[in-house]
Amino acid sequence: MFLHKTPSFLSKLYPSLVWRQSTTEKVIYLTFDDGPIPELTPWVLDTLREFGARATFFCVGENVQKHPAIFQKLLAEGHAVGNHTFNHLNGWDTPDIDYLRNTLQADDEMRKYTQTDLFRPPYGRIGRKQIMQLRHKRIVMWDVLTGDFSARLTPDHVLRKSISYTSPGSIVVFHDNLKAEQNLKSVLPAYLSHFSGKGYKFETL
Ligand SMILES: [Zn+2]
Repeated sequence: MFLHKTPSFLSKLYPSLVWRQSTTEKVIYLTFDDGPIPELTPWVLDTLREFGARATFFCVGENVQKHPAIFQKLLAEGHAVGNHTFNHLNGWDTPDIDYLRNTLQADDEMRKYTQTDLFRPPYGRIGRKQIMQLRHKRIVMWDVLTGDFSARLTPDHVLRKSISYTSPGSIVVFHDNLKAEQNLKSVLPAYLSHFSGKGYKFETL
């Protein structure tokens, strides 16, 4: 079980992390984790383009290495990118020095094309010491977790929860990974259409 909406005590416990953006304007910050992959990322790009939407992609270094052309397409279409470690490591299960090395390895891979100071820990799991080691980065969490990756959730449920928890300045997590494919393909166009219709814009972090 997980929470679609980040509880406020968490953001108070970790004030140095970015949980949402403070604004009263109708802006939503969409994020896509785990790509880029040929099966899904180009579809996400086409869908975003239909709505004139920009987003931030937290990429796994290994996938950038395998699919550099898709990574470059993300950049060419005006989206932002961030580091999501090289091998999608779980910070709670990884020695601090290995976590730092793996993250820097992803930086090296992305630096061939661009520079970014954005970082999102896979699974949202990162230790206090790891946060310290990465203090030169903007560590981005979220306030709305769509749950697109969960096979137990129907697209209808994912869409309803995602819409109800989104507010101006929300940072929303989707995934361009295969586990999320079924939910994402149904939810993303409907989500974009809903908030575009209400006058929202989708911007990069
Ligand atoms: Zn991830």
